Amino acid sequence: MTTRAQILVRGIVQGVGFRPFVFSHASRRLLNGCVLNNSAGVLIDLEGDASEIDNFVHDLESNPPPLSSIESIERVDNLGLVDYSDFKILESDASGQKQVPISADVATCNDCLSELFDDSNRRYRYPFINCTNCGPRFTIVEDVPYDRANTTMRSFEMCSACRLEYEEPLDRRFHAEPTACAVCGPRLRLTDSSGKEIGGDAIASAIELLRAGKILAIKGIGGFHLACDALSNEAVTTLRGRKFREDKPFALMARSVDAIRPYCRLSAAEITLLESPARPIVLLRRKRGSGIPRSVAPGVNTLGFMLPYSPLHHLLFESFDQPLVMTSGNISDEPICYRDEEAAQHLKKIADHFLLHDRPIHIRTDDSVVRAVNDNQVVLRRSRGYAPTPIRTSFKFGRTVLACGAELKNTFCLAREHSAFVSHHIGDLENLETLRSFTEGIEHYKTLFDIEPNVVAYDLHPEYLSTKFALALDDIATKIAVQHHHAHIASCMADNQIDGQVIGVAFDGLGFGLDGKFWGGEFLVADFCDAERIAHLANMPLPGGAKAIREPWRLAAVYLERTFGNTFLDLDIQFARTLDRARWSTLTSMIASGINCPETSSMGRLFDAIAGLLMLRNCINYEGQAAIELEALADKSATDYYEFGFNGSEITAESLVRKVVEDLLDDVPAGQIAGRFHHSVARLVLEVTRNIREQHRLNRVVLSGGVFQNILLLDRVNELLRQTGFEVFTHSRVPANDGGISLGQAAVANARLQRRGTN
Ligand SMILES: [Zn+2]
Ligand SMILES: [Zn+2]
Repeated sequence: MTTRAQILVRGIVQGVGFRPFVFSHASRRLLNGCVLNNSAGVLIDLEGDASEIDNFVHDLESNPPPLSSIESIERVDNLGLVDYSDFKILESDASGQKQVPISADVATCNDCLSELFDDSNRRYRYPFINCTNCGPRFTIVEDVPYDRANTTMRSFEMCSACRLEYEEPLDRRFHAEPTACAVCGPRLRLTDSSGKEIGGDAIASAIELLRAGKILAIKGIGGFHLACDALSNEAVTTLRGRKFREDKPFALMARSVDAIRPYCRLSAAEITLLESPARPIVLLRRKRGSGIPRSVAPGVNTLGFMLPYSPLHHLLFESFDQPLVMTSGNISDEPICYRDEEAAQHLKKIADHFLLHDRPIHIRTDDSVVRAVNDNQVVLRRSRGYAPTPIRTSFKFGRTVLACGAELKNTFCLAREHSAFVSHHIGDLENLETLRSFTEGIEHYKTLFDIEPNVVAYDLHPEYLSTKFALALDDIATKIAVQHHHAHIASCMADNQIDGQVIGVAFDGLGFGLDGKFWGGEFLVADFCDAERIAHLANMPLPGGAKAIREPWRLAAVYLERTFGNTFLDLDIQFARTLDRARWSTLTSMIASGINCPETSSMGRLFDAIAGLLMLRNCINYEGQAAIELEALADKSATDYYEFGFNGSEITAESLVRKVVEDLLDDVPAGQIAGRFHHSVARLVLEVTRNIREQHRLNRVVLSGGVFQNILLLDRVNELLRQTGFEVFTHSRVPANDGGISLGQAAVANARLQRRGTN
């Protein structure tokens, strides 16, 4: 029976090839009618067989265009028949503001790649080739609606050949806003470090410079990279020296999966992640003696690789078959440079040459970092290629919420209905430049996604800049503070789309607790509204505050003192023998007076203490370094473990530290001790969650916090809990670290408002 229906699809549905997709599916099902973009999304008018219309909607739901993200499909049936004679793609209905979410940036698609290397194509070797299915999006959009005039492509007027493609509904470049070619589009140029242009073929010269061991600043999609030959220890060491970056691993880029194989072991899941359109950095297991110098990633047994994601990258690798270091173009802790002037100024002492182009980057977006754990994707840094695609939630946000996130690895989140727009990685809010990214980022998201928040959620820590920002927002009356570890657990629940009460295990560095102390080794019973602290690691002094985080030896000494008293100094272990007595005595008076000596129940700090005790390192050069190296050192076959003390609410580590020292005295290898320690923490999680299961009749365990980025620990905990019949939930779509906090804050704020009945 012939019938007519209208279907409105909301979400990321424009600029992602939605209309040609609709056209081909409707035609295949012999449906007539039309499709157009309007201010709400994509509107489809269909006439034909009722069951074919059902099938069409099913196609949309089950197999939408790959780059789209559907928020909702609304359908109105039994409309008056129009007698359409065919199916048409119509011009956009420009009435009303277009407020349609835009997609993340997408790696060059295969169609564009074949054109790039086809010498008969008019875009042969053009470094900015793109189409509706690929290219920059989020990083070039300045305003809505998403039209070329509102992107950084504005100044490039299309040539007639590009315009023809842009205006042809069935063309792959139909309304692809960054469409360009060598005649009309952006251009490359190579300069020396003083900005003087070097003539000739920019790409050929750049490759020669890289082969000669030079360091290049390369302008990319979301910012500048610093690149050098990854197989040259000299080039890598020079880059480290100039960048003031001692140990933090550098990311690598290689031509293809096969070009990575000599250096890393690859699983099918890892290959899928490497080749996904988001093209993240994937942390891979490094092969021993693989030819990549240790200086690329000292002290760890992983390498972070990504594949080329812009045409420029593909052209660079066309005649360069070994990996390149591709690290963020910044100085130490500053955010990544993305403007030409800023790069010229900040990077001129690091880079020998600059490979530049004249398409401005509007918003700075770092490379994303992911890992495959048991064939699942685990996001560690969610940025280019992922943001601003919303995280879909199983619950509905009754009011529009802004969540300001934490201090380190900050993201913010704007939420409405079932969509949480978690921002790209902003960074550590400890310098003006990052704070500017944070405040401007919030304004940008508000505009792009048409969200005017009327609720703001923030961390309890009074000194976080994100907290201060939230409290200063005079025009938002409803402000909701969310405890840091509650936010972690809520974030993992939202990530997994679960609801109700759970056992939450939140292990991280430090987060402000309800008692004003720094928490971080927490067992909670939580739902979205509330969190009750059931058990935690016993408080330890943190002598020197932030300094104690940078210097793991301080925690090692504190734990030894707690276990053995001051006689630990006489122990015949290297740590005690080499400990600076004068510095330790300063520390003890600090602890006695309590000045500059906050207390903490942090599990991250216990990892530091063990790393310090094993003489892995006294000071760290990047966040989490001691724990990361402890994981790398750990013998994974270790099955023995040390016992913690647990009295039902407080967990003590003295018995564990005592056994570690005994092992050291017995010359047990450090790798074995590190392995036993990981296993011990996993056993502890099992013991405590079992105890809570009995008391609270809960069987779901949610694992969150930066410590759970430790894959060895995560695997062990997962395995032990599952064997014991628990249902276990871990992060995949947002990071376990503080990058996920904003999502948790938004979820908690929403639940509390709902309970109050003010939603
Ligand atoms: Zn393409
Ligand atoms: Zn053109």
